[in-house]
This record gives sequence, structure tokens and C-alpha cells, in this order.
Amino acid sequence: MDAPFLEIPLLDHHCHSLLRRQPRTAHEFRACFTESDAAEIVDRHVPWSLFYRRAVRDLASFFGCAATEQAVLEARETRPLDRLVREMFTDARIAGVVVDLGLRVQDYHDLDGLRALLPCPAFPVLRLETLAERLIPDASSWRDLEARFVGEVERAADGDLWALKTIAAYRTGLAVARWDADDGERAFRQTRDEFHAGRRRLQSKPLIDVLLRRALEVAARRRLPVQIHAGFGDRDLDLRLANPLWLRPIIEDPAFGTIPLVLLHGHPYVREAAWLAAVYPNVFLDLSLTVPFLAHGAADEIAEALAMAPATKILLATDAFSIPELFWLGARHAREAIWAATGAAQARGYLAAAERPDVARLLLCDNAAAVYRIALPP
Ligand SMILES: [Zn+2]
Repeated sequence: MDAPFLEIPLLDHHCHSLLRRQPRTAHEFRACFTESDAAEIVDRHVPWSLFYRRAVRDLASFFGCAATEQAVLEARETRPLDRLVREMFTDARIAGVVVDLGLRVQDYHDLDGLRALLPCPAFPVLRLETLAERLIPDASSWRDLEARFVGEVERAADGDLWALKTIAAYRTGLAVARWDADDGERAFRQTRDEFHAGRRRLQSKPLIDVLLRRALEVAARRRLPVQIHAGFGDRDLDLRLANPLWLRPIIEDPAFGTIPLVLLHGHPYVREAAWLAAVYPNVFLDLSLTVPFLAHGAADEIAEALAMAPATKILLATDAFSIPELFWLGARHAREAIWAATGAAQARGYLAAAERPDVARLLLCDNAAAVYRIALPP
């Protein structure tokens, strides 16, 4: 079947930039289809993930080549990156991207480089922990770091900025605690010493927790949406601490009640995230990465989210990174999974056939446009 709902554009509200140096080998290409960095997973097991097997077939149909990994790799090599990006984004009807540029910045196209490649607008997101890591080495004290951090978030919000993003879940978890100034100063000194010794990875819970609250205060003043990584993701994650239920004190804090909080990814906490989205006006549930990494299971998770949360609270995106193929596959599989999920709801008498495109439009486009206040051309 041709991709369903292709008449509806995708406003891809969560994704990353493209690699400057594109994959050349099967190993490098396969590495884009797993969250593991273990060579054994990439070489031996990824070729047998259902997502990858399906991807090779789909990409072969896009390129018009044989349905083998080698043929797909050769076909992508014949196109310069700008042409590949243009063709795939146009074919996948991606109307805009809200992009987190805070990932391994030296390896990826910056905002200008990405905009030069894309046939659609790009809306930048500020990744808070990356900003903090940049500021720590030159800060003189904890108070100084806090002031610099808030100043930089404010300055970013004055310019071209559409959302904040936190990866606290990756580092110290979502049970955001309160810390006093002494805790902060002690943690700051220890972290700055580590940074001066060459380590550049912020994983101090007092610093991450307090800076996140400071950033939420800015977001509340500016009505900036905040993306919160919750659920699965890179291998360095303690998945137990990425359960969005930990966020209740933040969600219930009246000071933050006006901030749209977008819980990214869902799996395996789709039920929890859907419940939070169903009961709190400012909470939204995203199912990127669940689509397409969960293969055929993604449709079940969308159906599960729709069973609890109204369709106005659920967003889809690609969470694509590194290669244009992940954008193309993510957009295509999102539409297909929505088709299957709404079909299941219809079969059980909970959606009329005529309502299915309305739900698809909310999930693919309209909810993101409302949350991020993005007006797309008609
Ligand atoms: Zn992401």
C-alpha cells in the first residue's frame, strides 16, 4: 500500500541535525538504526531488527534498486547529500523541523548548514545541558554559573528559539529535587574540577536539577515549550529514572503551569505519559523514536496513547538524526502507524472512518503547530 495520510504534512517537532560526513560503510549505516554503540549489536544484530529489514526494503523502493543493504548504500552514494535531503523531505511531505542541535556539535551540520540543505523551515531548540557544559569551565562560582546560564537562556529566547529541551533523564533522572546553595556550590566546584581535568560531561544532580528549574522559570516568563526526554533513548540511560511520573512535582508546580511540557518518546512509559497528558492541560505526549524503532509495535503504542489521551494531546515526530533516510522512514512509518491505530479504534467502534484523517492531522501537524506556535504555509 502507498503511504497513507500523505496529503497531511508532518511538522517534525523533534529531530536532530545531519552528519557532515555521511556513512560510507555498512557498519556506519547500520549504526544509525540502533541506540546501542556496541559493535556486536551493530554488526551482528541490527540486520535482524525488523525496523532495519523493513527500512532496507522501503529505501530500495525509494531508490528503485534491489532490496539489499549493498544496493541501498550504492544508490545513496550516487546522490550528493543536498539532493538526497531535498528528494526525501519532499517525498515524505515534511513541512518543517523543530531541531535539537545540541548533539555532538562538531560532527553535525549547524543551523545554517542544515537550513542550506533542507527544503523546509528549521526551528531551533536549545538543549539545556549542552549550554551548561559550555559555561561551567569559565564560571567563578555556583552563583556565577546560575546567572550566566539564565542570561544565556534569556538571550536565546530573545532570538530565533522555539523550545527548550532537557536530557536530565539521561544524566541524573527525572526525580528533580530541590537543593540549597551549599549543595550547589559544592557540586559546582567538583564538576568544574572535573571539567578542567578534561571531562566535559555534566552529570551532577544538584547542578542539573537547579539549572532545569531556572530554565523552567525563563520558559514560564516567555511561554516557551519545554521538551523533556522521557522513556527510552541512548544506551547511557537509566530507564527506571526516565519514567515521566517522576515529573509530577514539576507538572503540579503552579509557577510552571503555563509551560507546554512535551514528554518525548513514550516507550515504555506510553501509558504513564498518556495519563499525564490526559489530566494536566499543559502536558503533551510525543511518540517519536517509538515510531519507527518499535517497528509494527509502534501502531499498538499509538493506539494505547489514543485510548487514554485525547488526540489533541499526542504528537508524532521522527526523532531522526544523522542521515536523511531516518527522516523519510520516520515520516512514512508515523503515517502508517496512525493509519493502523485509528483503524483499530474504528474497528472497535470508537472512531468513524471520516474522523481518522482529522486525528492524523492533529498528531502529524496541528498539535505541534499549536504547542510551538508555528504557522506553516497552507
Ligand atoms: Zn531526540
